[in-house]
Amino acid sequence: MRKKVVAGNGKCNTTLQEGIELAQTVNQLVTEKGDKNITVVLCTPFTHLTKVVELVDGNRIGVGAQNCAAEAKGAFTGEVSAAMVKSTGAGYVILGHSERREYYGETSEILNKKVALTLANGLTPIYCCGEALETRQAEKQNEWVKRQLDETIFQLPVEEVSKIIIAYEPIWAIGTGVTASTEQAQEMLAYIRGLIADKFGKEVADKTSILYGGSCNAKNAPELFAQPDIDGGLIGGASLKGEDFLGIINAY
Ligand code: PEP
Repeated sequence: MRKKVVAGNGKCNTTLQEGIELAQTVNQLVTEKGDKNITVVLCTPFTHLTKVVELVDGNRIGVGAQNCAAEAKGAFTGEVSAAMVKSTGAGYVILGHSERREYYGETSEILNKKVALTLANGLTPIYCCGEALETRQAEKQNEWVKRQLDETIFQLPVEEVSKIIIAYEPIWAIGTGVTASTEQAQEMLAYIRGLIADKFGKEVADKTSILYGGSCNAKNAPELFAQPDIDGGLIGGASLKGEDFLGIINAY
């Protein structure tokens, strides 16, 4: 059985104090009322990681970063390495989010370095892929996503690729309030699972958790999560409010 995962992407939101308050709220809600079969992950700003790791119940909530450096260490002012993330007690790193690809020029080449360092440090990458609106309108989304995967995580040996969580996030659905339809999300996640099966075998494909992300909320999550290939969600806006996030966690 593959893991069902609901991961919050806090983005560049919350001061440390606000982030602690939010994590405390989420921790209380999840430990008291959360579905125990769901792996819950809070991906916080780097500055919050140590505190959030300390305060959550590690048996119920994993903690992750939203990025890491493409280099292991050294003269890279302002960067935070995968080893540094690991040293906080965090277990996950979001990589390849469309905002990082678009605003910070993250290419497949850069992402390959980040994925390798993340895995080498025993962290689980939550690897994002997804197309822009024009690509969807041109009905080229499958080719687009395939290329994003072929150039990056599909280059890994099977034992490494099987450690990765994949998140399909159509860019046109991120933060827009426009969710992909259940059919569009299921179709793409089944397509990605098929690609994994072709390249790495059915057993690996069946074990890989593939998430949907993009304006997912407590209202649309039950229908999305009921689909056979949707193993949970990567949640932006709705992860900033404890009750909303709990509603998504309990959507199965
Ligand atoms: C995201 O940024 O990963 C995301 C899914 O955002 P939102 O849920 O706000 O669309």
